[in-house]
Amino acid sequence: MDLIHTEDEGGAGNSQPPAPPSLLPAYVASVTAVGFVAVVLAVVLTDWPAVAEGLLVGPVVFLAIAAIIGEAKPIQLVLGDAESRSLSTSAPFILALIPVAGVAAAVVVQIVASLTDDILQRRQVTKSMFNIAQYSLSVLAAGVVYSFLSGDSLLAARPVGHVASLGPLLVAGITMVVVNWILVAVVVTLASGERFLWVLRADAQFLVITHLVLLSVGAIAADVATDGVWVLALLAGPVVAAHLFAASGARHAHDATHDVLTGLGNRSFAGYRLSQALTDARNRHADGPGLVLIDLDHFKDVNDTLGHPVGDIILREVGARLVEAAPEDASVHRLGGDEFALIVEGDHARSRDVAANLLEALEEPVKVDSLELLVRASAGIAVAPFHGSDSESLMKHADIALYHAKVERDRISIYSPEFDVNTVERLQLLADLRGALAAGDLHVVYQPQVDLHSGRTVALEALVRWQHPKRGNVPPDEFIPVAENSGLIYTVTSFVLDSAIAQVARWREDVPDVRVAVNLSARHLSDLGLPGQVDAVLKRHGVAADALVLEVTETGIMADAVRADLVIKALRDLGVAIAIDDYGTGNASLSYLRRLEIDELKVDRTFVSNIGSDDHDLIIVRSTIELALALGLRVVAEGVEDAHTADALARLGSVIGQGFHLGVPVPASEIDLAVTTAKGRR
Ligand code: C2E
Ligand code: MG
Ligand code: MG
Repeated sequence: MDLIHTEDEGGAGNSQPPAPPSLLPAYVASVTAVGFVAVVLAVVLTDWPAVAEGLLVGPVVFLAIAAIIGEAKPIQLVLGDAESRSLSTSAPFILALIPVAGVAAAVVVQIVASLTDDILQRRQVTKSMFNIAQYSLSVLAAGVVYSFLSGDSLLAARPVGHVASLGPLLVAGITMVVVNWILVAVVVTLASGERFLWVLRADAQFLVITHLVLLSVGAIAADVATDGVWVLALLAGPVVAAHLFAASGARHAHDATHDVLTGLGNRSFAGYRLSQALTDARNRHADGPGLVLIDLDHFKDVNDTLGHPVGDIILREVGARLVEAAPEDASVHRLGGDEFALIVEGDHARSRDVAANLLEALEEPVKVDSLELLVRASAGIAVAPFHGSDSESLMKHADIALYHAKVERDRISIYSPEFDVNTVERLQLLADLRGALAAGDLHVVYQPQVDLHSGRTVALEALVRWQHPKRGNVPPDEFIPVAENSGLIYTVTSFVLDSAIAQVARWREDVPDVRVAVNLSARHLSDLGLPGQVDAVLKRHGVAADALVLEVTETGIMADAVRADLVIKALRDLGVAIAIDDYGTGNASLSYLRRLEIDELKVDRTFVSNIGSDDHDLIIVRSTIELALALGLRVVAEGVEDAHTADALARLGSVIGQGFHLGVPVPASEIDLAVTTAKGRR
């Protein structure tokens, strides 16, 4: 019989926190004891010879088998958006057995069916005993009601075969459902601390609709049993059809709510589960649930470098490890991309422990063929009701906490309102930037780099500009870091690269050796796809590779040195020049100058602008220039803000200058390469 069994406590497989100490076991033990005594009495007192006498063997065997199969192979019913429940179809056949073979026989078949299912599902012995007891009590209660209403003997049976008994049988069926419903609702109430009426109500709709249908089938089965097995077999048709339809419905619902790659629940399912957990916690007056968001670090790089099939293997492995490491009461979801979510019962401390376990579970390298890949991740946590009492605000706050964890390299962050000021602004900026890229609100300006001896503009640095509709001009120092953290930097760089190369193609028509310099972010240096991308843009615009200088920073080189070496080498093999930007501000050692093959050094303006007044700066700049020239590098001095500095630099050797004195960044239309800057000439 379906009815409910103890595994469904709390509905939808949501398990509950540990039961309060004494009441639950006492209740379970009492129901079990009463059930077993009742079964023994029913079996002993039944007038078996009377039952056997006119027994319709074929129909009884059919009903018994149908009941056992119905219990072991439940229908998957889809309820609402994302919830599914299994419903066994044994109830109608058990009900039909009451008038056809007597209540004791119906109980015995019910016990066999329940045991079969418990063994298949490997349920605990205590659970199984309780299930058997409460099912038996439900069937016995139905038998008593049926006997009372129909006048048939309770402990013997005679085939109905007439419609007059259908009314009592339906009432008996309802009794069976209600008794079972109450017996199980008490367990859920004791185990979860939820209110009894609430628990009853939670199941009401489900039970009423499904059982009305099933009980009607039971009544018809009892009615036609005398007509033989073949007529009964016709009844199996609708039940099998219901199975098939429900199975396909459940499959569709599963597909709609689950991620195909990992098999985990998807974003909408996570939202559903989260609101369900919120309601549960509220009903129990408990803190929680906690929402733990996990995001893999630099997953894009893995995808780009090793390909999507490898990325997929990693995501699947990560999903499996998270499920393994998550506590039993948590549900694990993949929100999309490399982002996962766990819904955890309990307070901050519990969520943090869970998050720490999850990250630890990811520490073991993932093996893909002969490769051992290190997967690192960050976690952001928000806990109800402290950080929100609905699923949207918890999601938003966990996301902010995750962002904080990434930026601060904390690995695990619990949401705090302090994160908001900064983050909300940044998130807004990020959203606006995404819009600006789509709307074409970014543009590129160019700042000349002037040969201080000849006064010629030998190169131009492309600098991105963003004219925000409300905020006006947003400086790159503000939005570039935000873009870097989100991955949007790839789009920004593509845009700048494309604009700059298209522009240098035009300039080269008149000045064939002029170069354009484009800034790269640290992230690009671990992107093994970059050289190919650069090559494609150069080819698209028909520009030789020596027209392009890519500026990288010391920090970028040091962040992922092995890959940076590979990327830089591949770019230089194309013929593109590499410049070290802001040289002197990073804490990198000089040794990489020897290790790395680079072309240009851009001495940072913090040293350059003061060489006229600060002897120390002059010494540093002079020796840096000497060193760079000796290594065969081109030298660009940044921050040339006055003529005095330009003169001083020119005296130090063959230096290119860049700075407000030589030219501020302007749109390409305002650049005239034919003009030799007197300011730059000695
Ligand atoms: P950067 O690459 O060192 O660019 C030079 C910055 O110094 C520019 O600021 C420029 O306007 C400024 N500057 C030029 N001459 C002088 C001077 O004489 N004195 C002073 N005080 N400053 C001068 P901007 O355009 O605000 O860019 C700031 C930083 O933003 C850049 O520093 C670069 O790191 C980043 N950036 C700009 N455009 C891009 C881009 O397209 N992609 C990436 N990844 N970063 C960019
Ligand atoms: Mg630069
Ligand atoms: Mg610079």
